Amino acid sequence: MKYSIDENGFYGRFGGAYVPEMLYPNVEELRQNYLKIMYEPAFQEELQGLLKDYVGRPTPLYFAKRLSEKYNTRIYLKREDLNHTGAHKINNTMGQILLAKRLGKKRIIAETGAGQHGVATATVCALMGLECIVYMGEVDIERQAPNVARMKMLGATVVPAISGSRTLKDATNEAIRDWISNPEDTYYIIGSVVGPHPYPDMVARFQAVISEEMMAQLQEKEGRDYPDFVVACVGGGSNAAGAFYHYLDRPEVKLVAVEAAGLGVDSGESAATSVLGKEGVIHGSRTLLMQTEDGQVVEPYSISAGLDYPGVGPLHAHLHQSGRAIFKSITDEEALQAVLELTQLEGIIPALESAHALAALDRIGAKPDEVVVLNLSGRGDKDLATYLKRFHFDGE
Ligand SMILES: *Cc1c(COP(=O)(O)O)cnc(C)c1O
Repeated sequence: MKYSIDENGFYGRFGGAYVPEMLYPNVEELRQNYLKIMYEPAFQEELQGLLKDYVGRPTPLYFAKRLSEKYNTRIYLKREDLNHTGAHKINNTMGQILLAKRLGKKRIIAETGAGQHGVATATVCALMGLECIVYMGEVDIERQAPNVARMKMLGATVVPAISGSRTLKDATNEAIRDWISNPEDTYYIIGSVVGPHPYPDMVARFQAVISEEMMAQLQEKEGRDYPDFVVACVGGGSNAAGAFYHYLDRPEVKLVAVEAAGLGVDSGESAATSVLGKEGVIHGSRTLLMQTEDGQVVEPYSISAGLDYPGVGPLHAHLHQSGRAIFKSITDEEALQAVLELTQLEGIIPALESAHALAALDRIGAKPDEVVVLNLSGRGDKDLATYLKRFHFDGE
């Protein structure tokens, strides 16, 4: 079984580039150039320099002693929460902005749900002095006000998507529409391992820095370059793709992908695509997708805006179908409990998305002497309003 992409942009039966004819030249330009540009020595030198001095890489691999005692196994946290802007998303936006510059593009567009990808895009646009337009559902603009303020401070124009459910899927549709109308000067920075080929492969390669660092860090700390388990949450799947990347073809490493069950997988309010999804095409690729009998996209739900997406990237659909990764679903309540647990055992306040991965720790069957690496995708600052509302502290 092969887990990397084939020459047509497929992982097994998933992936491809299902785009309207108007978009074909843009996607084709990218397909023909991305690998060539990404692996030019001068490109790598610039990217590595910025990842080190601006983003703050390598991120630490931290042995979580008290958490390990609690679960009776050896748990390391890969600290993507310590990146500039607070999550893994900037690994990808930094790579794509350098690519956009090499392609001579002047105008950057992006979609965002919770606003994390929008902030990471607006940040690199400010850094490079490029125009930035971020599409965001009207509903998300209301519920993610601090990130909207950040994007505006960074000089981005935030355009509300007012169709459909006015959330991430609709923002993505608007961004695609913009790209069709501005094919010459515009580059579309997609925020996860989704979209038409080559985006899933390109984003996975930019995020692969996570598992590349893990290998060196584990070699130093454990005397071998691999763990027994890698655990990561999955929205579209980019932080998981990065954490799994260098271990995909190493069967001794068990890969655990954790989705949001929302109020429960059978509640009708869920985002557990691996359980509820069927094959279909969304945003340019064939993948697993939550849909009705007649193919209408079902609105996903999760307390975590970063996991609230009706599909998964094609790599994850393939990892699910082939059995290479184990999929777990975690409810809102379980994730909230995991937030408090990590905060009080280790002094680290995680993002709600990452807390879904933490909540799966007691379901993976790790033995006392086994090594687990959990990809801590982001920090909890953006979720403080939710935490204040849900947790009742003494005296309040
Ligand atoms: C956006 C986000 C996610 C989900 O996106 P993936 O592409 O699945 O990684 C997870 N964690 C955090 C902190 C995020 O901001």
